[in-house]
Amino acid sequence: MIYENLQYVKTQIEKSCKKAGRDIDEVTLIAVSKTKPIQMINEVIECNVFEFGENKVQELVEKYGQINHKVNWHLIGHLQTNKVKYIIDKVKLIHSVDSFKLAEEINKEAKKNNLIIDILIQVNIANEDTKYGIEENEVFELIEKIALLDNIRIKGLMTIAPFVENPEDNRKFFRNLNQLFVDIKSKNIDNVNMDILSMGMTNDYEVAIEEGSTMIRVGTGIFGERNYRI
Ligand SMILES: *Cc1c(COP(=O)(O)O)cnc(C)c1O
Repeated sequence: MIYENLQYVKTQIEKSCKKAGRDIDEVTLIAVSKTKPIQMINEVIECNVFEFGENKVQELVEKYGQINHKVNWHLIGHLQTNKVKYIIDKVKLIHSVDSFKLAEEINKEAKKNNLIIDILIQVNIANEDTKYGIEENEVFELIEKIALLDNIRIKGLMTIAPFVENPEDNRKFFRNLNQLFVDIKSKNIDNVNMDILSMGMTNDYEVAIEEGSTMIRVGTGIFGERNYRI
């Protein structure tokens, strides 16, 4: 089941890249394993996918200790400052930085551990009340401030698009975020590398890739529906 799901997702990635005239190597697939058991993660690893996304600190830490293979963990959910210390030495990339206060805490813990931590700035591109992330017009100012922190490296932007029936409805948001990404890149700010544009989930990753995504976060499309009650 997981093997077939992954084959399907990979085929769709290929199709979308072809449609947009992009190279498939430009798009990294993150398998979002939240709520899913270790045994399923191991099945994904057997299919040569080594990037995993979790949205809760405790779950990430538990799984980190139980997976024997070398994989990369991505924190994709809201991060509270008091929990930064638990994941600082375990994550490849933090996708969800949306305040200077959080960046300062990451910087402090990174320094303690002698690490440079890669982060993305989470943007609430559709201005939804229910979402974390900063508004589009605040992004540049926040990036300029975070860029001065020594133990953090800004690698790009991330967004969670609205839940929509028709993924085409999110195209405008993906396009806007890509435009912002390109604008910031063109400013060549010291200590800021705009390499990663993390956008697109099970429902809309094809459209996101067509609009320039370099990292898609797919949970349901790989692992099947989540049951939050277990
Ligand atoms: C759960 C989650 C995903 C994956 O969602 P699916 O719709 O299951 O693909 C992606 N990104 C974030 C931030 C998530 O919390």
